[in-house]
Amino acid sequence: MNRNKVAVTKCTSYNTAEVSSAIKDIFAAHGGVRALFKKGDKIAVKVNILKASHPDKAIITHPMIVYAVCKELVENGVNPVIVESPGTGTPYTPESLRSVYKTCGYFDLFKNLDVEFNYNTDYTNVKIPSGKVIKYLDIINPILSADGIINIAKGKTHGFTYLTGAVKNLFGTIPGMYKAGYHLKLKGIGNFSEMLVDIAHFIKPRLSLIDAVVCMEGNGPADGQPREVGHIIASDSPFAADYVFCDMVGLDYRKNPVLLKSEERGFLNRDNIIANGKYNRITDFIFPDTAVTMDGFVNPSFLFKTYKFLFKDMLTLKPVINRNCAGCGICKKSCPASAITLREGSAVIDYNKCIRCYCCHEMCNNRAVDFHRGIMYKISKKLLSKKPE
Ligand code: SF4
Ligand code: SF4
Repeated sequence: MNRNKVAVTKCTSYNTAEVSSAIKDIFAAHGGVRALFKKGDKIAVKVNILKASHPDKAIITHPMIVYAVCKELVENGVNPVIVESPGTGTPYTPESLRSVYKTCGYFDLFKNLDVEFNYNTDYTNVKIPSGKVIKYLDIINPILSADGIINIAKGKTHGFTYLTGAVKNLFGTIPGMYKAGYHLKLKGIGNFSEMLVDIAHFIKPRLSLIDAVVCMEGNGPADGQPREVGHIIASDSPFAADYVFCDMVGLDYRKNPVLLKSEERGFLNRDNIIANGKYNRITDFIFPDTAVTMDGFVNPSFLFKTYKFLFKDMLTLKPVINRNCAGCGICKKSCPASAITLREGSAVIDYNKCIRCYCCHEMCNNRAVDFHRGIMYKISKKLLSKKPE
């Protein structure tokens, strides 16, 4: 059985010298750039840009990490291409990609480094031979045509999948709005997590990094708070990278639905991880409000499953539009269930259609989507929520 290497490197700021040194250490721990890539290889660098946002908000992979990785590649004769298909609220067009890279501070930093940014928005429907819940998938062409992939995720909490890291970042290889269709087709966290595992196993990035210098805690992936964690994680397996990230922020991996599915399918084998580098486990990282629902997913008791089935609607947090709503319509475009309409300058949710995917919360730029906690949710949270182990 293959062993998975995970390098954990201390990095406490986005200072150029500190990040460059950490990235050099990471490549060295994996045998050097040339052990991973051949001279002349065209490598897709899949970044994590949910939406146009300043790096200080901790929503996106910090451009300094991407810059340091690309610099190492260029200096070793490898040709990186920066690739992203942002969240569903951002049109997947060349103009929009240009504007997103600019707002995220990528252009400023890359002025002195000759690196290609991808604007090709073509995609191909490909067969996923080992897919458990998806047999065919639309994947963006710059990923399919590359000689290899480096996956650089941001370490964040996530309302739907608890945490987002290396595995979830690869959902961004699906073109633009097509992501919403997969949310609708694979309702529920179990199926959705299986799909993320299918995608990560198919894409097989040669190296997966997690920017855990400053993570997001609370109601991520877009509405939480930045939290200094002080590390960069890198592995030849996205599953192993996520496992270490999960442990670093103090979460029992069995509460992470993606890792649970990865382990069930044999893609995560904790005994086969060779970890290089140390970290102190955080004990007070703040997880999303939706966490109590997620706890239900991993609670194996028949009684709890029955309880959750009966009270599903009351147990699951409801997205509620607040007074900040500017009527921009981004959430309407992002909603996979077409549950949102615009009325009198504000978004309105049809709860009969809503599948509780929280894409609206993720994509709103005005903090106008709250979570409504019903009485059953509050009781359940009291009874069932334990401090992360
Ligand atoms: S909830 Fe947010 S994204 Fe939706 S219309 Fe209002 S401001 Fe726009
Ligand atoms: S209203 Fe929000 S949570 Fe409900 S389906 Fe639409 S995007 Fe998902």
